[in-house]
Amino acid sequence: MRLTVVGCSGSGPGPASPASCYLVEHDGFRLLVDLGNGSFGALQGLVDPDTVDAVFLSHLHADHCLDVAPFVVWHRYSGRATRGRVPLLAPVGAERRLALAYDADGEGLTDVFDFVPVGAGHLDLGPFAVELARTAHPMECYAIRLTGGGRSLVYTGDTGASAAVVDLARGADILLAEAAHPDVPGLPPDLHLTGREAGEHAAAAGVGRLLLTHVPPWVDSAAQLASAQAVFPAAELVAPGARYDV
Ligand SMILES: [Zn+2]
Ligand SMILES: [Zn+2]
Repeated sequence: MRLTVVGCSGSGPGPASPASCYLVEHDGFRLLVDLGNGSFGALQGLVDPDTVDAVFLSHLHADHCLDVAPFVVWHRYSGRATRGRVPLLAPVGAERRLALAYDADGEGLTDVFDFVPVGAGHLDLGPFAVELARTAHPMECYAIRLTGGGRSLVYTGDTGASAAVVDLARGADILLAEAAHPDVPGLPPDLHLTGREAGEHAAAAGVGRLLLTHVPPWVDSAAQLASAQAVFPAAELVAPGARYDV
């Protein structure tokens, strides 16, 4: 299984990266995990959009889903889309939310996507065994565990401290965890992880490596990394274009 970071800027695009988007490949299958602002541009520099086999959206906050719009434009008008509708797995409500993001009429995107509403639990997707867990976030959001070829990758989506996310990540080879909140007092609960909390989740789950992502442009990423490494030394910051063999 291979992970490529398309975009990793937290809460919106930044000067150095698009918002959240990850390409996960295994056995010739290409899965896009989130499609945040700006990511469709970077994606075209990595792979032909026609080769995307499925899309999973952790949740419907703008920084995780808004580049569905240029994906639709590409499919409708480039003349290069050859493979029919793309499965789009997302929380309930995605079809209407994304249609309204595309245009004011909300006419629907079912010519491009086969919408598959998801909830917590197991499903099969191409060569992947998929497990989803509800995270601690103000809107319905799912962390995802992808297993293939005996290896596993877990992505937290957006979450505050969560026992469900620790359970989902138990023993995973890589935990790709958001670390959006700086370590300061008075943070709202059930929204985002600090660097230290991301490290604590990795340690509690006994994962092999921790990849930190979703650091907003206004937060000091080196400080986020240092906080995580204080409790989980095998931590690193991701960057756009970085590839990892899981
Ligand atoms: Zn986010
Ligand atoms: Zn969010």
